Amino acid sequence: MNDELLALVQLQETDQNINRLRQEIGTLPKKLAALEEKLAGQKAGVDEASKAIKEEETKRRRLESDLKDIQQKIVKFREQSSSVKTNEQYHALQHEISYAEAEIRRIEDRELEGMERSEQLENRLRTAQQELSDNSKVVEIEKESVRRASEEQQKRLTALNEDRTRLRAQVSESILTRYDRIAGSRGTALARVEGQRCLGCQMALRPQLWNQVRSGDLLPCESCGRLLYFDNETPPDPEDLPATHRNRAPAEA
Ligand SMILES: [Zn+2]
Repeated sequence: MNDELLALVQLQETDQNINRLRQEIGTLPKKLAALEEKLAGQKAGVDEASKAIKEEETKRRRLESDLKDIQQKIVKFREQSSSVKTNEQYHALQHEISYAEAEIRRIEDRELEGMERSEQLENRLRTAQQELSDNSKVVEIEKESVRRASEEQQKRLTALNEDRTRLRAQVSESILTRYDRIAGSRGTALARVEGQRCLGCQMALRPQLWNQVRSGDLLPCESCGRLLYFDNETPPDPEDLPATHRNRAPAEA
């Protein structure tokens, strides 16, 4: 391989590494969003339990106030019953008193039920708060590791882009134009030939083309259009063919 071809092969490897890295970088915002979403769900759980507890408190205050009203009514009925003039009036007041007392028992039952609900809600709140607190720590650690990974990836990307610039400077403008055009439509612009086959599309080369490529001419594959090159430093070994194909020149999807 001449120096220009070597630079071109390295350029393709670099471009593939850049693409892979860009894809990895692209998944980071989603990872962060998923972490935030998990946390938001648990915050909502805490808020919901707190709100339900406040509602129970409001209900209980209302019941307390109703209870006082009825107790005052009973006091008033008792005062009135000491000054009634007829039996009928007396019985009417007694009836009011027992009705009010029944009402008090009903309210007290509701208060008890409310206290049980509050207790359950308090437990729920404590559990939700604990989960949130535990998960907040985990999320902070995960976010930090995502941030560090992101920094690392940006550094690698900068280095790869520097390699790319350096390698492109070693290749002629006309070859770069063809390289960019084919890479744009095929994903990869270069395909290695081995055993008289294009490893980009697996098609067999005509003997004349095979000979030209072996002598170092950069010619397009008649089937896939990729620029073919022969690597005389890699000894041909049919057993290696699928692995080499996978690593260096992926077939079309
Ligand atoms: Zn091909």
